[in-house]
Amino acid sequence: MAGVEEREEATALAAQARNVVWAADGTPWQRFLRVLSGGRCGRQPGGWTVIRLDAPWQDTPSSERPGWRERAANLDGDVAFAVDYLVCARCGFAWVEWPYTMGKYQRCGLAAAGLEALRLEYPGLSWHTLGAHFRDSRPFWTAVGAGVPGVYQQRETCSHAPAG
Ligand SMILES: [Zn+2]
Repeated sequence: MAGVEEREEATALAAQARNVVWAADGTPWQRFLRVLSGGRCGRQPGGWTVIRLDAPWQDTPSSERPGWRERAANLDGDVAFAVDYLVCARCGFAWVEWPYTMGKYQRCGLAAAGLEALRLEYPGLSWHTLGAHFRDSRPFWTAVGAGVPGVYQQRETCSHAPAG
């Protein structure tokens, strides 16, 4: 159960979602090995190597999907929120996959703010997910997809998407 302070911190973090530090592919940022456990949307168990920047919000190459980016929010050394995304300006489509919010920071608006920031940075696109929505995530997608072009409906990537 999250404490009041943690929830306030997470809510404040959500409000900063447009303040993003970017790491380009191949930039020699410090890398940390971080093991994340849990994840209500079914992130793979075990750990993976990710780039962690000293910033509230960061945008880095995805460690799981070649050619994709990862948008994440850091809080007290934790990855409070993370989502992989892919944009094809040519086709006007964007995809997000596996949004993850750490348990104690859920329902603080991090996912909604993170997804909104992406839509504002890439205006005019239709937003989708690659995979199907699990039953327990449908209310989430209904809420964040309201009024959004594409409404985060499942869609296969276009021919420009990186393989893998
Ligand atoms: Zn395309």
